[in-house]
Amino acid sequence: CGIVGVVGSNQATPVIFDALRRLEYRGYDSAGIATLEHGLVERRRAAGKLDHLATLLARMPLPGVTGIGHTRWATHGAPTENNAHPHGTERVSVVHNGIIENFEELRRELEEAGQVFSTETDSETIAQLVDYHLQRGLSPREAAHACLKRLEGAYALAMIFAGHDGMVIGARHGAPLVVGFGDNEMFLGSDSLALAPLTRRIAYLDDGDWAVITREGATFFDMAGNQVDRPIKVTALIA
Ligand code: GLU
Repeated sequence: CGIVGVVGSNQATPVIFDALRRLEYRGYDSAGIATLEHGLVERRRAAGKLDHLATLLARMPLPGVTGIGHTRWATHGAPTENNAHPHGTERVSVVHNGIIENFEELRRELEEAGQVFSTETDSETIAQLVDYHLQRGLSPREAAHACLKRLEGAYALAMIFAGHDGMVIGARHGAPLVVGFGDNEMFLGSDSLALAPLTRRIAYLDDGDWAVITREGATFFDMAGNQVDRPIKVTALIA
């Protein structure tokens, strides 16, 4: 339902958490955050209100300057902690808004290829498909693109990759996603409101676009994998 991504110089978890608060108005049933620290992916997830996630984070902090967060409105799979995003493996972590229409077919294919699923969600299919490609030697960028080509339905998503601190890949198709430009810090959000106190400099992904975000900036691609330009717009100050 709500997506946030951060790549920067400051601790990501508090920034992501505050942005998730600003997305609460959209409604949600569970929430989670994943970060990268020394190349390792770690995550915390909780069913129910963001306060539950806050309690968990106070007990088990989540360090790292690169991360993704999600508030979920369940469509496939009960609103439990285990079905809460981020989903993934030790290689990749993914948050997803929308519905993957062909997830049953993809899941069958991936299970036959040896991928082991641990949730009931359509979204985990995205993570398992990327993981499948990473295991076969594709780079994160190649694996993400190979995955996107197979997805049918509506999605906005953000992912981080083990061993690739300082990078988030985002994509959108039928669900909104924006890129925010900070100072030595970059953001992804499902709307510019989520990023409002962080930056007013926003680039809008076109439908079918995906982007590689690092601290230095963003590189945009279309569905075919061609690099494209997406202008930075300055949003109005919100009263
Ligand atoms: N279809 C996904 C799920 O049920 C994502 C739902 C959402 O947009 O939050 O987990």
